[in-house]
Amino acid sequence: MARERLISATETEDEPTASVVASLRPERLEGYVGQRDLKERLSIALTAARERNEPLDHLLLHGPPGLGKTTLAHIVARELGTKAYVTSGPALTKASDLVGTLTRMESCDILFIDEIHRLPPVVEEYIYPAMEDGRIDFTVDSGMHARVVTLDLKPFTLIGATTRPGLLSQPLRDRFGLRHHLGYYAESELGEILARAAARLDIDLPRDALSALASRSRGTPRVALRLLRRVRDFSQVRASGRMGAGVVQEALDLEGVDVRGLDALDRQYMRVLGETYEGGPVGVEAIAASMGEDDGTLEDVVEPYLLQVGFLARTRQGRCLTRAGAEHIGVPFRERACAGDLFGG
Ligand code: ADP
Repeated sequence: MARERLISATETEDEPTASVVASLRPERLEGYVGQRDLKERLSIALTAARERNEPLDHLLLHGPPGLGKTTLAHIVARELGTKAYVTSGPALTKASDLVGTLTRMESCDILFIDEIHRLPPVVEEYIYPAMEDGRIDFTVDSGMHARVVTLDLKPFTLIGATTRPGLLSQPLRDRFGLRHHLGYYAESELGEILARAAARLDIDLPRDALSALASRSRGTPRVALRLLRRVRDFSQVRASGRMGAGVVQEALDLEGVDVRGLDALDRQYMRVLGETYEGGPVGVEAIAASMGEDDGTLEDVVEPYLLQVGFLARTRQGRCLTRAGAEHIGVPFRERACAGDLFGG
């Protein structure tokens, strides 16, 4: 990503040590807050798999970053009493990168591949027989001596996570028996996640501070937990350890996070759309070019939340600023901007 954002839902360098993150992760499905439909479907599938002593069907989780996909993969492994192996699409550059892990995996273990839409085609093709028939074919030697060796694998479950399901090839998508979209969390759910984290981190978080944090967390647990850590630092250094809505506000103002959880990048996007392009409609490529950003980054990390809070609309003609969006950044609303057919978002 082009720049570091406090409200970024992707993992950043300021993330505390892996053990702190891990200790905040719920371990069982019942401790996983929100996503009711997903939990219900998963719990049925898990019970059925356990009763039959079979691996869980391959599972595809899609949705914006920071909503709990990796957490869920660990929970599934724990619920099944098996092990989760974690990797990501970009880390797997050649077919052979997976051989070690796949052959080491025991029956019903979990292979979690984050950003699975970035899996190179050579690895993707290699994964099909592994998913379907429990075997991998790989070529040893080359030229005249090349031969294909087939290895049988123990039955396993692939959990794929992606922010861009549309970029997955159809054959790969079809191989997932379970597919689910993770949506943004309600403020009450973020409040619950924050309250649990505060208790584990021994932070005394009054109710007003909790709701001030939840409302600025853009529906995303990872953001909520990150803001909590920033506010804890601020409170310790600048507010003699006090915690309250005022301290939350001061701390996050300093970080450039506004009352709706938008940061400088979101506001810049909205300004370019509202001022340079007079509210749209305009294509995301043009907005990205004006901002000097990558359009994929904007689509992944800026637009989903702006669409969710109703500041942005997508029409057939392009992106446009809604009345609420124009009011939020204080530019005049232009009716015609949003007059096209709405679709998506
Ligand atoms: P993703 O893989 O979707 O990017 P993660 O699974 O890494 O997201 O979750 C980010 C953080 O948010 C983790 O530290 C996890 O503890 C917390 N978290 C996410 N979803 C939940 C949830 N439903 N309940 C409690 N904590 C959650």
